[in-house]
Amino acid sequence: MPGMPDSKRPVIPISIDPTRLKLTSDDASTGTLIGFRCKDCDTTVFGTAVFCQSCTSRNLEAVELGVKGILFSYTIVRIPPAGWPGDVPYVLGQVELPQGPQVLAEVIDCEYDDLEIGMDVEMTLQAVPAESGGPDKAVYKWRPS
Ligand SMILES: [Zn+2]
Repeated sequence: MPGMPDSKRPVIPISIDPTRLKLTSDDASTGTLIGFRCKDCDTTVFGTAVFCQSCTSRNLEAVELGVKGILFSYTIVRIPPAGWPGDVPYVLGQVELPQGPQVLAEVIDCEYDDLEIGMDVEMTLQAVPAESGGPDKAVYKWRPS
């Protein structure tokens, strides 16, 4: 008897965007947001950067931005972008990280009435099926912390 076919193996999700989300566990259940910090002026950005947006220095270092932030603003989205895999309507939150950059993502596990500017939130990961097949994508979301 041959071994189990590939399709029966549990498939571990991969990061939706490896330049913004680094998975930190083998089963893709935890991760950290990542970005770059300017060593000259201390400005931090979320995601990739070639030069500093503030002082144009190229003296950048990769940093982990963690999973915590504060809800800066939010929108209730009733008409989602094409291919949106989640529920509608949903809450799109703009979250400010302690290092300064802001990160847009869906806010989950929160009633609309409980949304409050300035509330503490934390990043959580959800596995979403890939549109083109292949492993699921681990997508970052915000939830009240
Ligand atoms: Zn700078």
